[in-house]
Amino acid sequence: MKIHEYQAKTILVQYGVPTPNGEVAVTPKEVFSVVNGLGGKAVIKAQVHAGGRGKAGGVKLVSSPQEAESFAEGLLGKQLVTSQTGPEGVPVQKLLVEETIGVDKELYLAIVVDGSSKRHVIIASQSGGMDIEEVAVATPEKILRVIIDPNVGYQAYQGRRIAYALDLDQSQVRSAVDLIGNLYKAFVERDCSLVEINPLVVTIEGNLLAVDAKINIDDDAMFRQQSMEEMRDSSQEDQLEAEATVFDISYVKLDGDVGCLVNGAGLAMATMDIILAAGAKPANFLDVGGSATVEKCTKAVEIILADSNVSRILVNIFGGILSCDTAAQGVVDACKNKGVNPKLVARLLGSNATEGRKILEESGLNVSFVDTLNEVAEMLTK
Ligand code: GDP
Ligand code: MN
Repeated sequence: MKIHEYQAKTILVQYGVPTPNGEVAVTPKEVFSVVNGLGGKAVIKAQVHAGGRGKAGGVKLVSSPQEAESFAEGLLGKQLVTSQTGPEGVPVQKLLVEETIGVDKELYLAIVVDGSSKRHVIIASQSGGMDIEEVAVATPEKILRVIIDPNVGYQAYQGRRIAYALDLDQSQVRSAVDLIGNLYKAFVERDCSLVEINPLVVTIEGNLLAVDAKINIDDDAMFRQQSMEEMRDSSQEDQLEAEATVFDISYVKLDGDVGCLVNGAGLAMATMDIILAAGAKPANFLDVGGSATVEKCTKAVEIILADSNVSRILVNIFGGILSCDTAAQGVVDACKNKGVNPKLVARLLGSNATEGRKILEESGLNVSFVDTLNEVAEMLTK
C-alpha cells in the first residue's frame, strides 16, 4: 500500500526523523492562510501516490500567500501527470504546505527489501534530488548499497560507513547514524517494503532534514498494520485494483490485451511468462486464490472484462481446493452479467476438470480448450 508524503512524514516524526514544519491544505484559501502563517514563503507540494512531481510542476517554491493561492487553484482538483503515472495522471486533492529550507546538499537515502539478496538493503548517494534515476543509470558507482543482516539488524558501523560515503562533516556523522537507525526501526516496525528520503537535505545550518518522504507498506502485512489502513487513499489507486482488493482478489493491471484468470500466484506468473513468450501481452496479473467461490470467480472475471484493453481471456486453472467447475461457472456468470461473449482459451486441469469443461461447453460461449501450455501459446498466436 502506498501512502502520501505528508502521512509518511508523520511516521518519520514519530521515529525521531526530522522533517520541515508544514500543514496539509485542501482549498486554495487554506493554502493562502497556511503560507501566511509561515511568513509568506513556502514550498507547495502536490500529494499524489507518484514521484517525479518536481519535474511535472507538482512542487513549487512560492514567495507570497497570493502566489501560493493561485498555484493551488491551478493544481487542486486536476490530474497530475508525472514520469511515474500513466498518461491520465493521478488526482490532486491535497497539498502539503511547508516552510522553505535553505539547502546546502541534496542526498539520497532509502531502505528496500531486496529480492536478490533476500535482505533489507540501505541505499545511499551523495547525488540525491530529482535526477537520481539518471545517476543510477549513468554513474552507478555513486550509489552505495549496505546489506542488513536480519539476525543483528542495523549496526552503527554501517551507519558510519554510509555517513562517510555521503561525505558528511564529522559533526553530522553522529546524527546521520541515529537518523538511519531510526529510519530502519520505522521500516521494520511498520512492515515497509520501501522507505525513501529523496532528498535528504543538509541544510545551510548543517542539519539533516527529510525534505521528501515516500513509504510503501507491504500489502501482506496489512493485517498487523491495521492503524495504517486509515491512511489508504483509494482515489490514488487504480480503480480496478482497488475493487479487486475489496474482494480479496490479487489483481494487478498491466497494459496488454490478454486477460488472465488463474489460481495461485506461481501459476499466474508462469501464465504471464507463457503469454509473453508467445509474443502476446498480458492485460493483468490475477490470482483468485485457492478457496475462491463462484461469486469471487465471477467478480474476478468482471474485473478482467472491465478493462477495455482486454480482447481475449485465458482461463488457466489447476483445480485443487478451487475446483475447475467453480471457476468455469464464474466465467459463465460474469459474461452473462456483462452481456458479452469474449474469445476464451481455457486450460482446466485437476479437480472437476470434466465438469468445468462441460459448463463452458454448454454455456454457448466462444471457448477453445487446450491441455498444455504449448497449446496455450499456439492459441494466442492465432
Ligand atoms: P519529487 O519530485 O516528487 O521527488 O518531489 P520532492 O519533494 O523531492 O521535491 C522536488 C525538489 O524540490 C527537491 O529535490 C528539492 O530540490 C526541491 N525542494 C523541495 N522542498 C524544498 C525546500 O524547502 N527548499 C528548497 N530549496 N528546495 C526544495
Ligand atoms: Mn523527491
